[in-house]
Order: sequence, then structure tokens, then C-alpha cells
Amino acid sequence: EGSVELDASIMEGDRLRSGAVGAVTRIAHPVTLARRILEDGRHVLLVAEGALAFAREQGFPECDPAELITDRQLKRWEAAQRGNTVGAVALDRHGTIAAATSTGGSPGKLSGRVGDSALIGCGTYAESTLAGVSCTGDGEAIIRVVLARRVLEILKALDNPEHAARVAMDVLTEEGRGQGGVIVLDWRGRTALAHSTPFMPVGWINPSQDTPVFSF
Ligand code: ASP
Repeated sequence: EGSVELDASIMEGDRLRSGAVGAVTRIAHPVTLARRILEDGRHVLLVAEGALAFAREQGFPECDPAELITDRQLKRWEAAQRGNTVGAVALDRHGTIAAATSTGGSPGKLSGRVGDSALIGCGTYAESTLAGVSCTGDGEAIIRVVLARRVLEILKALDNPEHAARVAMDVLTEEGRGQGGVIVLDWRGRTALAHSTPFMPVGWINPSQDTPVFSF
């Protein structure tokens, strides 16, 4: 049985509360499961069977892989195996920053492979006094340089999200030997994005806007 294994993580930047899942099957919205782990508070990261057992114990909606064998679902399945990474960073009116990332992983990955999106500090990081970050791209490269946390360190030094995002891309290419992209939102509400990949669609909104702005 081939099944899609998903990774996701979420972090709240006030108390650094985090939740993450790695290589989890049968879950349509892994980032919601990650959030449940954050709220539960006992652990940060659950993987594979253990993550599924936790989901069941929580009465979390599950999808039967057999249900996915319709044409439409099969296409989605194939799409999910290609990645379908979604990242988000948000700042609320209380000054809390949160970040989250969800993915089907990298193409042709081995079963059991866990990527950056499941790892706090790599694919996702948030600290309300500084910024929130979500990453996409070559997971192994992102892990090598601990990219999300790295962006915060660079931002501390440069105090400019645009510069920090761009420097992070150099770090990813030169030290990580991979390609990718980051979205950044700092404590002042300044947004930034950078990518070394050809395409990374991004949208953003703030209270002064009625509708989101898109980069594509
Ligand atoms: N970073 C993800 C991973 O390696 C893939 C992606 O962002 O497309 O699992």
C-alpha cells in the first residue's frame, strides 16, 4: 500500500509552544494535528504510527487511503507526493507571532523520511519578540542549516526582514547546498520573502487591506 506521508509543524512565539508531526498517514490536515499536539503540551513531535494513534485518541478526522482511489483524489495524491507545501506566519493585535508549515514532502522520498517541515527550527520558527518564519524547498538542505531559526539570528543582526530573508537564501545555497524559499514576518509587522527557486507564490494581508495582496 503506497500512502502519502505528511509533515507539519506549528509554533506560537510567546512561550515557544510547538507541535509537529512527521511521516503521518491518513490525516488530511496534518497542521491541525500539529496544533493539537501543541495544545496537549506533553510533546513537541510525534511521528508515523504514534502520531496516528494520538490522532485517533483525540477523535481526529481520518481519511481512509482507499477512499483516495478516485481519479480526482488520485491526482491530489500525486500532487501531495510532489510537495504541496503551505507555510504561514501571522501577527495578532496582542503582538503574538505564530508560524506554521505543512507538506507532502519531497518528490520520490523514501518511506519514513521526515523533512524540515516537521522540525521546529528548520521549517518553522516563531518568537514574538523577533519574528516568525516558514520555509519551503529542499528539506535536507534546510535541515542542514537550521534555516528558520537561522533567519531569526540573521534578523537580530541586521534588523531588516528583507535583508535577512535574502541572506538566508545565500546560507541555504552555499552552506546547505540546496534551493528554497522563506517567508518572514517580524514583530513590527514587516513582511519579507525570498526564494532561490523559480517560483514561490505568496499572499499577505494587514488590517488596512480588504483583500490580500499576491506576489503572483
Ligand atoms: N521542504 C519540504 C520538504 O522537504 C518540501 C517543500 O517545501 O516543497 O519536505
